[in-house]
Amino acid sequence: MRIAVISTYTHPTRQRIKEPSIMQSSVPELIAGLCPEDADIELYNEKELDIPLDRDWDLVFFSYLHSYYEHTKVLSTLFRQRGIVTVAGGRHASHFPDDCEQYFDAVITGEPEPNVPTLVADFQKGQLKKRYGLSAKGVTDIRPYRYELIDFSHNKVRLPGIEASRGCPFSCNFCVLTGHERYRYRPIPQVIDEIQTRMRWNKNFFGLMDDAFVFLDNNLGGSPKYLRELCEALIPLKKTWGCALTFNVLKDESLVKLMGRAGCRYIYTGLESLNPESIEAMNKGQNKLSEVNAVIQRAFSSGILLSFGLIVGSDGDTNEYLEKVPQYLADLRYFSITFLGIVSPYPETPFFREVASEGRLLPGTISRDYDGYTLCHRPKNLHPSEVVEHFQRLCHTLGSLPNIARHYWSKLAMSDMPRYRSTILFSGPEILSIRNPVKNSSRRYIAGMDPLEAWDAQQMVRLGLEPQRIGPPGSGRFHPNRLPS
Ligand code: SF4
Repeated sequence: MRIAVISTYTHPTRQRIKEPSIMQSSVPELIAGLCPEDADIELYNEKELDIPLDRDWDLVFFSYLHSYYEHTKVLSTLFRQRGIVTVAGGRHASHFPDDCEQYFDAVITGEPEPNVPTLVADFQKGQLKKRYGLSAKGVTDIRPYRYELIDFSHNKVRLPGIEASRGCPFSCNFCVLTGHERYRYRPIPQVIDEIQTRMRWNKNFFGLMDDAFVFLDNNLGGSPKYLRELCEALIPLKKTWGCALTFNVLKDESLVKLMGRAGCRYIYTGLESLNPESIEAMNKGQNKLSEVNAVIQRAFSSGILLSFGLIVGSDGDTNEYLEKVPQYLADLRYFSITFLGIVSPYPETPFFREVASEGRLLPGTISRDYDGYTLCHRPKNLHPSEVVEHFQRLCHTLGSLPNIARHYWSKLAMSDMPRYRSTILFSGPEILSIRNPVKNSSRRYIAGMDPLEAWDAQQMVRLGLEPQRIGPPGSGRFHPNRLPS
């Protein structure tokens, strides 16, 4: 049996651009680990390379984000025309299974662990069902990833990833986990064994990235007690790793120091905003803005690059706040921002329900617009065009070369921990990448106003596919003049 697992991708500029980076989707390795061992499996990550449209497989699993749905529908339709059976899974498929059933042979709603093996067994018996929604027993079901199938030559900076936990105990109103995933974690011996015996390392750059990996968890600090025990178990391994976790963990000085000793060199935290009203509007009370400076200094002096993500367009944002963001950041001498986006009301979130019930979704919004870089709603205090102006200005300011120089100059000497300096040096391109989404000067960044990617639009017209509209009721049909020529 020939199986392909494809993680699809479309670039925020809506141009055909690849963006290989340290963090990539690991869903292909995860799904491959749930398929029969004797299957002939190929993994594709479209962020790294194009998907070959002429290869022969029996079964194709698609993993995608909401904004890649139209593109994934095109790929699925092209494969189905050649007799290949296609499967959709993930958060979008779980939330919109009826829509997905039109474009894929089968849809997995819920977690992959119980569903992928059942689906493959049914396929082999010729008894494939339209929908698979078995409940997971627990995170102990998570099987080791097929690390040996990762091809580091496609993406020389990529690091292997592992999950220690799933879900998050917090309830930010814009987060796709809120109300859908309870927090749970894997037994530590399982995680350590997988790192020691299964993980394959990136040997590029003369070993500079060897023995380094990332935790893929949405919030590795969901249980500080678990994280503490995990760090103790990681110390003897002498590996280098990065993770994402929440602000409350950063306030625990002894835990941050322990993470540094356990090999943590990079933490990403969604700070989201430096404006208390915006934090409140997002229900993100765990972020204590008065303590930001202290947590930054603490992390760097423990040998950890702490990087923040910011989003604009929330209901607390005002022109006055957004104009002052560069000044607020300059006051935080050691800040490092590696993500800047526009808050998105993903359809399964409390934020979506709020803006939809208040009639604030923008007309003409389609799934492609839910990408974190396109305004899909009317904020309470800002005109949509103001949000976009601030977003573009901040992307250029924060992703600038002087900002990278400041990053290197201010941080390189802050710790003597092994691999600290190489982590700082590797992070420069990540900071520069903040401006990548705004590199298309004709893009408007407002839902309903930007065309789809040219190839997708042409294929959709040719194949008779309609975009999925997730805007306000009665916002009209997709208009052909949105298609590029
Ligand atoms: S803290 Fe992060 S992962 Fe947790 S609910 Fe909020 S945005 Fe989601």
